[in-house]
Amino acid sequence: MQWHHQENFRSLPWKQEKDPYKIWLSEIILQQTRAEQGLPYYLRFIEAYPTVRHLAQATDEEVFRLWQGLGYYNRCKNLLSTARVIAYDMNGVFPNTYDELLKLKGIGSYTAAAVASFAYGLPYAVVDGNVNRVLSRFFGIDLPFDTTEGKKYFFELAHKVLDRANSASYNQAIMDLGATVCKPQNPLCDECLLKKNCFAYAQEMIGLLPVKSKKIVVKERFFNYYIFKCKDKVYIQKRTAKDIWQNLHEPFLLEGDDKLNEDAFSNFHLQSKPVEIGQSKQRLTHQIIVARFYLAEIKTQEKISENGWWVVVSELKNYAFPKTVVSFFKKIKLLLDD
Ligand code: SF4
Repeated sequence: MQWHHQENFRSLPWKQEKDPYKIWLSEIILQQTRAEQGLPYYLRFIEAYPTVRHLAQATDEEVFRLWQGLGYYNRCKNLLSTARVIAYDMNGVFPNTYDELLKLKGIGSYTAAAVASFAYGLPYAVVDGNVNRVLSRFFGIDLPFDTTEGKKYFFELAHKVLDRANSASYNQAIMDLGATVCKPQNPLCDECLLKKNCFAYAQEMIGLLPVKSKKIVVKERFFNYYIFKCKDKVYIQKRTAKDIWQNLHEPFLLEGDDKLNEDAFSNFHLQSKPVEIGQSKQRLTHQIIVARFYLAEIKTQEKISENGWWVVVSELKNYAFPKTVVSFFKKIKLLLDD
């Protein structure tokens, strides 16, 4: 706390915030996202939707479009659903207890603790990667923090050391210490005021702590995208299945390792055979998406797939697409740079 009050100069717009809506929004944006990357999104969201009612009234398309590029689109889906529950079923008022907050979609123990402590000063400890790292190194805990046992242990320890009367400041302090001093690589131990009691420092175990158990298995998937054009229109479809990028849009897709599948188009009135015009790769946490893009002119604006329709090229900017599609559309000038 002493460090926090005297030496912590980390400045972010949601710090000191007391509005539960803004705290919740910042926490959802920051899940699996670095603060620097999430910051412009937070500012754009607050400007477009200053209250939870504004967010609840927005269309799905609009909100997904604003979220575009942040990834983990389930977060956006839950954000909208929870905003609507609060705006319409709870009269726009955020729950003010940890247990009630936990009942909302997309709010787990971390976000509930953040809202409960930052907005209402309740004695709940936030436990994120930064906090795990500081606790693990300081106390010398080699239990993997991503196992059921480890999660429970770190959760209980974080609550044991919490300054219950100043939970908001304390939580901010330990998170910022983890982000700026006790960093994953090259922590600034010489500047750290925990140094004299830190287990990892004394035992030279900094590089070994914290311990993670899971190895992420990364699967490669091949997305063959067919950009069908007819006069001034392009064919797009919405991803409705429970899969990555749900609710975003894309060109017509055939997934599979095989390249051009000519049989798939025998019923369409193509002007000419689709031509491959480029490739891109996007790495997600558990998957690598290899996207191959094909271009084909088609004679009539026929229905190509269940969830698709024709869109005037200049209107494409109104739809949310995965990052890999946006980059490719920009490359071939279907979308203009922002
Ligand atoms: S002394 Fe080093 S390892 Fe220990 S808490 Fe401080 S920054 Fe982290």
